[in-house]
Amino acid sequence: MNYQNSLDYAKQLDQQDSLSYLRKEFHIPTDKQGNEWLYFTGNSLGLQPKHTQKYIQQELDDWANFGVEGHFEAQNPWLSYHEFLTDNMAKIVGAKPIEVVVMNTLTTNLHLLMASFYQPTKTKYKILIESDAFPSDRYAVQSQLEFHGYDANDGLVEWKPREGEELLRMEDLESILEEQGDDIALLLIGGVNYYTGQYLDLKKIGELGHAKNCMVGIDLAHGAGNIQPNLHDSNVDFAAWCTYKYLNSGPGSLAGLFVHERHANRKDLPRFAGWWNHNKETRFNMRQPFDVMSGAEGWQLSNPPILSMAAIRASLDMFAKVGMKALREKSEKLTGFFEYLINQIDSDQIQIITPSNPKERGCQLSIQVKNADKSLHKKLTENNIITDWREPDVIRCAPVPMYTSFEDVYRMVVVLKKLL
Ligand SMILES: *Cc1c(COP(=O)(O)O)cnc(C)c1O
Repeated sequence: MNYQNSLDYAKQLDQQDSLSYLRKEFHIPTDKQGNEWLYFTGNSLGLQPKHTQKYIQQELDDWANFGVEGHFEAQNPWLSYHEFLTDNMAKIVGAKPIEVVVMNTLTTNLHLLMASFYQPTKTKYKILIESDAFPSDRYAVQSQLEFHGYDANDGLVEWKPREGEELLRMEDLESILEEQGDDIALLLIGGVNYYTGQYLDLKKIGELGHAKNCMVGIDLAHGAGNIQPNLHDSNVDFAAWCTYKYLNSGPGSLAGLFVHERHANRKDLPRFAGWWNHNKETRFNMRQPFDVMSGAEGWQLSNPPILSMAAIRASLDMFAKVGMKALREKSEKLTGFFEYLINQIDSDQIQIITPSNPKERGCQLSIQVKNADKSLHKKLTENNIITDWREPDVIRCAPVPMYTSFEDVYRMVVVLKKLL
């Protein structure tokens, strides 16, 4: 793309954008005077679609009108409510419906998946993560090691960027596995790194891990609704992601879980059980011996919170209508424009650490500002620009194709330049 650095040009891109109508379908937060924020933190908490309220209200009404009978009598019967989400969620992550379920929250799902897929032995027990993994994933993995009786320092293997670099190199993963693969039981990797925005080649990670008989799991918290992963074809064993970031489903909303089809009928896998992963035909007979369901549904434990699922349903209906392909096309253009404008700032102080190849990133750009501190973030906020600050010197900004305009991006960079 040959972008231009002007407000008129940004406005022109908005006019040409066939998805620009979507912005009006979201609540955009404003300051006290009613000026809209420039919202760049959809990677932390996505904005609320206006129709979400209607979806939740429907369930509140059915609860008021039917009480417990709502499990069967509600317009969208609660008993099978999670099934309304499966097909659309499967499309978003490139999976088959049998491979996907919405349940619990992300870190909980990672633990439940590790209960099944982290089966350490005396010699093969280590877990590999990326060195700047999201803290929750690191803690989860450390606690799994300790739970199984291993020393977390000894058991944790880190895939690190090279000295002086920020991004991970696949050939370094290859050499770690070459040297230590026989000791490693599990790879748990963020598919899109939360800090750098780097989108890793999931299929390659799967191949490298499997070549050493490791299980391979992917955290897609920063991928779902952002990039178009092909979880099924990537052949990884499992994945989990939250729905409150790019999937706009509300604070603390439920998470997604993927288990590859080849494990769908593996009754031999150890797993935790509850009534919700018991065969739904006989679930309410209550006294049957445990009979686990096939596919991803076989990892559920509890009957799920319908009000949260209603918000997810509202969001997924939007994603289904627009399609990830169109969103991704806009996203590449929007982030490309953002990158172009930042590179136009003539300053040694500022550097984008996210990969410049659009195939190796989602919408987020992580901007490193040398010698800056959190006061820069504060000043951006005072200018109605909502970004995320990561110590020591990185601003993470996510122009989200559903509700961020080219004009937002232009205005943001004008302010950033002024503040530098
Ligand atoms: C956001 C995020 C989490 C948060 O976990 P919760 O269980 O939803 O609180 C965990 N891991 C990654 C990689 C994330 O981006």
